[in-house]
Amino acid sequence: MDEHIMNPSGHSAQVIDGVALSSRLRTGVTQRVQALNLLGITPRLAVILVGDNPASQVYVRNKVKACQDCGILSGLEKYDAHFSESALLARIEALNHDPATHGILVQLPVPAHIDTAKVITAICPAKDVDGFHTANAGALMTGVPGFWPCTPYGCMEILDSIGYDLYGKHAVVIGCSNIVGKPMALLLLQKNATVTMCHIATRDLKSLTLQADVIVAAAGKRHLVTTDMVRPGVVVLDVGMNHDDAGKLCGDVDFDGVRTKAAYITPVPGGVGPMTITMLLVNTVLAAERLAPSLGTT
Ligand code: NAD
Repeated sequence: MDEHIMNPSGHSAQVIDGVALSSRLRTGVTQRVQALNLLGITPRLAVILVGDNPASQVYVRNKVKACQDCGILSGLEKYDAHFSESALLARIEALNHDPATHGILVQLPVPAHIDTAKVITAICPAKDVDGFHTANAGALMTGVPGFWPCTPYGCMEILDSIGYDLYGKHAVVIGCSNIVGKPMALLLLQKNATVTMCHIATRDLKSLTLQADVIVAAAGKRHLVTTDMVRPGVVVLDVGMNHDDAGKLCGDVDFDGVRTKAAYITPVPGGVGPMTITMLLVNTVLAAERLAPSLGTT
């Protein structure tokens, strides 16, 4: 839909409402949960929190609430910061074998004495609704069914919601973590975009963003992407979650400046953030569908 991917003479970008899009997608999740209920199945997500990281507590609370709103059962398990790695791995193993549990999420970060990679790979890939397991990363890499990490998956849904055709477009992804930047680049590549991945060691970021049709900013650095770094008509997805001097949540993009040039832009808050939890719900219902003997959806 290229005709509306433009921003003639200083008109403000269309601001993408991640809350409204989430709400539409969550209605679909609720309907799929109800269809499973008719088969005697209630999707269940086990949410494990180790320690008392305040941000993690908020994330976990929001995830549990979102599950409840869609009819997904959520089993929240909280352990203190001294919970041992072996006890955590044993708990994951038990959940892997629990037929009533369809998704398992261990809230990251885990305390330093626990090996994150060991925890992620302990989760059965069929229940890894965060999409972090190497089996799911490999599935994404090779384009076979698996679970996509929720934040990049949410970004793809946002692009889909505006009817954006990535074929032949130049997408610049800033940040290359395993949970956001790398899977984001792979998903964009799957849609035949030409993808440039940028990171802390990238020289002259501006020269690259100025070539972009789509920018996904996921560096965790406020005001990293400024108005002079984008060309008119660009689509900007801001994944960053930072705080400004007043303590207010902000993204990686100078929203007020960049919106004067972009065609579309996501705000922070209210853009990518709500979509991340929504895609967790989508992955959880998909896990339950795949594990249901009579459905076996891919
Ligand atoms: P990370 O710290 O693991 O990775 C950051 C990446 O950005 C690295 O690849 C690093 O090289 C790159 N980077 C850092 N500074 C840069 C710079 N100046 N120029 C270019 N690249 C730079 O972070 P992450 O877990 O991928 O998260 C990134 C941001 O996204 C954070 O702000 C995080 O809070 C946010 N986040 C938001 C959601 C959401 O739901 N909205 C989900 C996950 C992460």
